[in-house]
Amino acid sequence: MSVFLQNVLSTLKRGVALGGFPEGLYKLLSKPERVVAVSIPVRMDSGGLEVFEGFRVQHCSALGPYKGGIRFHPDVTLEDDIALATLMTLKNSLAGLPYGGGKGAVRVDPRKLSARELEQLARGYVRALYPVLGELVDIPAPDVGTDSRVMAWMVDEYSKLLGRNAPASFTAKPAVLWGNPVREYATGFGCAVVTREAAERLLGGSKGLTLAVQGFGNTGQWHAYWASKMGFKVVAISDLSGTVYDPDGIDVEKAMKVKSETGKVVNYPGGEKLSDPKAALYVDADVVAPDAVENQITLENVGKVKAKLVVEGANGPTTPEAELELAKRGAVVVPDFLANAGGVVMSYLEWVQNLQWYWWSEEETRAKLERIMRDNFERVWAKFEEMRRSSREVVMRDAALVIALQRIYDAMKARGWL
Ligand code: GLU
Repeated sequence: MSVFLQNVLSTLKRGVALGGFPEGLYKLLSKPERVVAVSIPVRMDSGGLEVFEGFRVQHCSALGPYKGGIRFHPDVTLEDDIALATLMTLKNSLAGLPYGGGKGAVRVDPRKLSARELEQLARGYVRALYPVLGELVDIPAPDVGTDSRVMAWMVDEYSKLLGRNAPASFTAKPAVLWGNPVREYATGFGCAVVTREAAERLLGGSKGLTLAVQGFGNTGQWHAYWASKMGFKVVAISDLSGTVYDPDGIDVEKAMKVKSETGKVVNYPGGEKLSDPKAALYVDADVVAPDAVENQITLENVGKVKAKLVVEGANGPTTPEAELELAKRGAVVVPDFLANAGGVVMSYLEWVQNLQWYWWSEEETRAKLERIMRDNFERVWAKFEEMRRSSREVVMRDAALVIALQRIYDAMKARGWL
C-alpha cells in the first residue's frame, strides 16, 4: 500500500478511536464507495495514439454529492487518489459543506502535452466518466496539474453530452463560464487567513512574522501573496528549481511574475539561492508552509524544521510520525483539511451561484470565504484547547478529525448506515 494511503488510514483510525466512534465508521471510511478506472485515448500531434490511465474515486456520499479535484500528474497512483479522496471527505465535512468526498487523477505529465493534446485528454476524461458525474452527483474541480482552462473544456464537454449548459457540474471555471474570480486564488487566500488566525493565537500576532513557503504553484503563490498583504514577511519560496531565501523579505508579486514568465523561482533577482527545493522548510522562519505535495516533512528531515507553526497548504505533506515529533518540540501543525479548504469552500460558493444562476461580486464572495475559513479555524481551535486539557498527546489534527468525523457519523447514523 502507498505510504500516503497508509498515513491517511492511520490518521482516520486515530480519529475514530479518539472520538470514541464505533469501529463501523472506520470500516465504512477506510474503503471508497466507488472507484472508476478508465482508459483515455488521445491522438497525439505526432499522429500516434496514446492511451492514458485515469481514475475517479467516489469516497463517501453520506453528506452529499462527491466533490473534489482532478489531478494530472505522471506519478499519481490509484492508491494516492483514494488517499486524496478520503481527505476530501474530511475536508468537506469539517467545512460544513453539503458534500461527500471524491478525487480524480490521470497519469500524465501535462507539461509535456500541447494545448490540443491536453484539451483532448480533458474532454476524453469527461466522456469516459460521464455516467458517474453531474451537478448533484459528483462535481470535480482542479487539483495539481489542472486549472480553470481544463475545467472550461470539461464543463463544455459535459454540457454537450447532457444537451444543455450545466455550469454547476464543475467548479473553478473561468469567470466567463460562470466561474468566480476569487476561485483562482481561493486556496492560497484561505491558507493565509488560517495562517493569520493561528499566528495570532500561538505567536501573539502576525505583523512582521516571517513565513517560508515550499512549493510555488497555485496554492503557494497565493498563500505567500495574501500572507504578505496581511503583514507577514515572506523570507523563502521554492519550487523544483530550488529555494530562494532572503531574510529581508521577498517581493512576492515580482516572484510570481518571474515564475509565470520563466517557470522557475530561482530566476528571482535577489536573495540567496539554495539548490534543495525542501530548504524552504528548514530556514529560520516563524511559520513554514509545505504547499507542494504529500510526504515532505518526514521522520528523516523533521529535525531540520525550526518553525513553531506549520501550515499545510498541500494535501498530506507531514507524515503522522513527523507531526508527533513536531508536537514534542511544542510546534503546532495546522492540518491540510483545515488549512487548504479555501479552494473547495470557494468551489461551494461558485456551485451555489451556478445552481441559482446568481452572481456575487468578487469582494462579497471573498468576504464569505474569509468568514467560513475563520469560523472553521475557530471551531477547531476551541476543540483543540478542550482536548488538550485532558491529554498532552493531542495534536491540532485530532481536533479537526473529531469534528469532521462527528458530522459524517451523525449523517450515517441518521441514514441507517450505522
Ligand atoms: N483540489 C482542491 C482540494 O484538494 C479543490 C477541490 C474542489 O474545489 O472541489 O481541496
